[in-house]
Amino acid sequence: MTVKTRFAPSPTGHLHVGNIRTALHNWMFAKKQGGTFLLRLDDTDAERSKEEYVEAIRKDLAWLGILADEEQRQSARFDRYEEQLEKLKASGRVYPAYETAQELDLKRKIQLGRGKPPIYDRAALDLTDAQIVAFEEQGRKPHWRFKLDHETPITWTDLIRGDQHFDPVLLSDPVIRREDGSWLYMLPSAIDDIDMGITHVVRGEDHVANTAVQIQMFDALGAPAPEFAHEALLVGTEGKLSKRLGSLGVSSFREKHIEPQAIIALLARIGTSDPVEVIVDVEPLLATFDFARFGRAPARFDEEELAQLNQKIVHLLDYEDVKSRLPGDMNAAAWEVIRPNLHTMGDVDQWWQVVTGPVPVPELSSEDREFLSVAHAKLEELEASDDLWKSLTGALKDATGRKGKPLFMPLRQALTGLDHGPDMNALLPLIGREAALARLAKAAA
Ligand code: GLU
Repeated sequence: MTVKTRFAPSPTGHLHVGNIRTALHNWMFAKKQGGTFLLRLDDTDAERSKEEYVEAIRKDLAWLGILADEEQRQSARFDRYEEQLEKLKASGRVYPAYETAQELDLKRKIQLGRGKPPIYDRAALDLTDAQIVAFEEQGRKPHWRFKLDHETPITWTDLIRGDQHFDPVLLSDPVIRREDGSWLYMLPSAIDDIDMGITHVVRGEDHVANTAVQIQMFDALGAPAPEFAHEALLVGTEGKLSKRLGSLGVSSFREKHIEPQAIIALLARIGTSDPVEVIVDVEPLLATFDFARFGRAPARFDEEELAQLNQKIVHLLDYEDVKSRLPGDMNAAAWEVIRPNLHTMGDVDQWWQVVTGPVPVPELSSEDREFLSVAHAKLEELEASDDLWKSLTGALKDATGRKGKPLFMPLRQALTGLDHGPDMNALLPLIGREAALARLAKAAA
């Protein structure tokens, strides 16, 4: 069996970190098994689905490296849904119902008032032909419900949650199509999963009850159900489903200069028994990916953890990985010097400015300024070399008797405008002898 998974977002908004995690796990599982990953756009809701979101979803996934092998759109498949609905009508597995939203609401309130679960009472199944004609004459249009088989208990072995049981009697027959002909999510999704050969459905545990219903739909449509893996939901550091997580997406990560590799490394592992590790390439993450390692407790997403992981990942990026994002004249040697000082790639420009100048002129004591004019004189005597810093500080030590901080700090301040930063030994050759002379002269003045 060739594995095929799908990520099925509704293009009614931007992807958030929870969707991204679902997409990632579908993709990882497929890739690990040498299978196929499908992007299915659940765009049956014409009003809320927007082309700009379709494009944003594609772009965000591409940026993360979660590349779809195939793409499908539900809006292109309405004829197929119609065809399958006719089959289900013929086999008596769907039925028309005429209650208005208010009537249904009232029924639910009465049931709840009596301490009963608000399960649809199937009143529509008892309508006489005359009643149906009367509704139609009033201009009422039916919505359609899928008729659950109450005799067959629903069971499946979830790849994360283990054995699952649902008593269909305790579920409402789901509405699958509205009065206006628009489709609800349940049936088109099951039809697509069958037609597109989906072998594994990986999604959040908020879909568990949908799975129970869809298992009967697969059966009614004459197809075996795929395997299911329902993941525990993602929560914020406060342990709750937060609004913040719902608005955190690729654009906010990009704004904060978070690398896609950091997002992948974190989302691949949180909620599993494997630790979050500083892993730049996806291969080792694929190797350990296993639904058996997923826990039942919510996965905690911590932005601070992401920032720290991001920093460590930046420190492992090769020049070739980042070249296109560096200032044009910054070469591999400069990248090596600057890289350990970066929190994010957003810091590159600031450090490159230290190399290329101008740098702020530090406020120094007259002793330090005098020391810097000696430094200037000594540097003038030296030739540009990779050991320039060593030669300069060596000569200054001999000439002034200074050592340690009093020796290094005024030099660092004059040469970089800062009192911290990259190793001066590596930095000075990048700044260059001429620029260094100019900076020393300015600071000494
Ligand atoms: N469009 C559905 C959603 O976003 C898909 C759920 C599924 O994976 O079946 O919730």
